[in-house]
Amino acid sequence: MNSLTKSIFLASALLLVSNINKAQSSTNNPCYFDEYTNNNSILQTEAAIQAKVEILKKLPVNKAGHDSSKTIPVVIHVLHIGGAENISDAQIQSQITIMNEDYGKIAGTNGDGNGVDTKIRFCLARIDPNGNCTNGIVRIYSTLTNHKTYERAMLKQLSFWDNTKYMNIYLVKSITGGVLGYSSFPGGPPDEDGMVVRSNVFGNIGTAASSLGRTASHEIGHWFGLYHTFNNGCGVDLCLDGDYICDTPPQATPSFNCNTLNTCSNDVPDVNDQKENYMSYTPGSCKDMFTNGQKLRIQATLDTIRTIIWSQTNLIATGCDSNYTAPTVCGVVANFVTLTPVVCEGNTVNFMDISLNDATSWQWTFPGGTPATSIVENPSITYPTLGSYDVTLVVSDGSTIDSITIPNYIVVSTPGVGTALPFSENFDSGIFPPQGIIINNFDGGVTWGLDSAASVSGNYSIKIDNYINTNYGSSDEIVLPYLDFTSFTGTNMFMTFKWAYARSDPSFSDEMIVLLSTDCGTNFNQIYYRTGNTLVTGPTQTTPFIPDSTQWATATILLNPYLSEQYVQVKIVNITDGGNNLYIDDINIGITTGIEMLEEEVQFTVYPNPASDNIVIDFTKFSADKTISIYNSIGKLVLSKMISAKGKHTILVNHFSSGIYYLVLEGSGTLNTQKIIISK
Ligand SMILES: [Zn+2]
Repeated sequence: MNSLTKSIFLASALLLVSNINKAQSSTNNPCYFDEYTNNNSILQTEAAIQAKVEILKKLPVNKAGHDSSKTIPVVIHVLHIGGAENISDAQIQSQITIMNEDYGKIAGTNGDGNGVDTKIRFCLARIDPNGNCTNGIVRIYSTLTNHKTYERAMLKQLSFWDNTKYMNIYLVKSITGGVLGYSSFPGGPPDEDGMVVRSNVFGNIGTAASSLGRTASHEIGHWFGLYHTFNNGCGVDLCLDGDYICDTPPQATPSFNCNTLNTCSNDVPDVNDQKENYMSYTPGSCKDMFTNGQKLRIQATLDTIRTIIWSQTNLIATGCDSNYTAPTVCGVVANFVTLTPVVCEGNTVNFMDISLNDATSWQWTFPGGTPATSIVENPSITYPTLGSYDVTLVVSDGSTIDSITIPNYIVVSTPGVGTALPFSENFDSGIFPPQGIIINNFDGGVTWGLDSAASVSGNYSIKIDNYINTNYGSSDEIVLPYLDFTSFTGTNMFMTFKWAYARSDPSFSDEMIVLLSTDCGTNFNQIYYRTGNTLVTGPTQTTPFIPDSTQWATATILLNPYLSEQYVQVKIVNITDGGNNLYIDDINIGITTGIEMLEEEVQFTVYPNPASDNIVIDFTKFSADKTISIYNSIGKLVLSKMISAKGKHTILVNHFSSGIYYLVLEGSGTLNTQKIIISK
């Protein structure tokens, strides 16, 4: 989708979002597909699908391959934290039924509209990748159920079945910004394959009782290679652009209601927008059809790219063949996972049970771990000593039993001692990445690089181009070397750096996040976050942003809570949303001179201190606006707001737990800190 179309599209999406929930971000849509897949690899896939569609169009109607029945084995990975998002087997089955009705145009159902039977059917897998009997549902206790799209790779680290043999669907409690779901496109990297759907719109019973289950039908359309009906607006050639399908009427912008509209007049004959199409954004209640052209594309994708999944051999292997007879009892199958199998001495590892078929008891053994055994489902185990350790899990459902041992699964290394402070990097060596700094570019696409067009001082800064970085939601990290914070000799320790950023469109919001780990990179605390208006330092422009000397801002982050840590890792992360250039320069940590000079002669008092319900910040001098940030004792930002530095400001703190907090007042180049105590 070109930039203009995206702008129009987002403006329309905004209307829907604001009607649903005013708190949602301005850039989000019910389906995240356009943001997720808008990259070059799609074009290659597109050529392959198109070539096959052209061949299929010329085949006689009943020729095999044009019109063949194809069954897709499905595995559902339910991520949950023990709440209603852990939906029932029956609710999952209700969605499979809807998918079959919608793709099969089954008479008497909601799917029986004016479209065609695509001849595609879906089957919850009955045999897992290891040949075990299964109901096709994996349940995983994980906070990743509150899903951020850039964390999608972690879902696959938890649980992923061979994507050439199973369609992987991940159910989550929420997706950032109120998105309902998104899917990969065919032909992408295997570890990106699959879709994410919110569990409360999956099926039409239980938590999805008010849903018609059309989110999954829509997302699966993308997985088969279908675009949105409004993909390229009115387009020029109705067959070769837009959604690449001749018989879906062109549509200028998505519609979010069931009104009859005709937004393009260049189709002959000029017909209304197809609000009934599953690949539109209209409500589920007016959707009931795929066109014959969409069926051709689906069939072409399955004949070209996803060829193994529906093969007879695979249907037999996954228990989806019509002759398959499941055993009367599907016994438990033991399995587990952790996201952090490599840790440092003294770190804690969170294990997750991903056993199949409803185990009710768990017996874990952790040689080298503390505790060395556990009977809880998802234990947290500390590893105090260097080495490699096996992990064993025995599960039972009361009548069947199974066990698994993974040798040397946990690797524990010594934490070491980081480099002594201060740390400074101005990128002026001209070497990139500089000594000790690592760039993590997970998607292999656009990432951080040296830039000589703009710098605060010297010749270079570093930059990431979000304008061309269209793999929306992907993260690119600048990882600093491990540092020894105990080497700091001053009183207040700060990290400071300069950044510059402009938008390309008011509705796009790239993000800049600073994360800090004290446990060898196992867990990271967010210590700084900027997006939208709080990230912008220059005017919105569709040309590449190059800051002048007045368009740099300073990030100042208090690091006092970490002064006793000897092995600290900090990273600065860019999350792209197709905005504009983000520059970073002059990173400093633990400089003892200079920082105090930042302190402004602001006169203010904070009272009461200790406080329980409210604190009052009372300014007696200076009037420049300030950002007030409150950090807890582990350095996590718990409150941030802009205030005008005039008179008295009351800040509600009654939701803070008792303890020490750090209050930081930051103005343009100025900084003041004060320790406050909350006592209940
Ligand atoms: Zn979509």
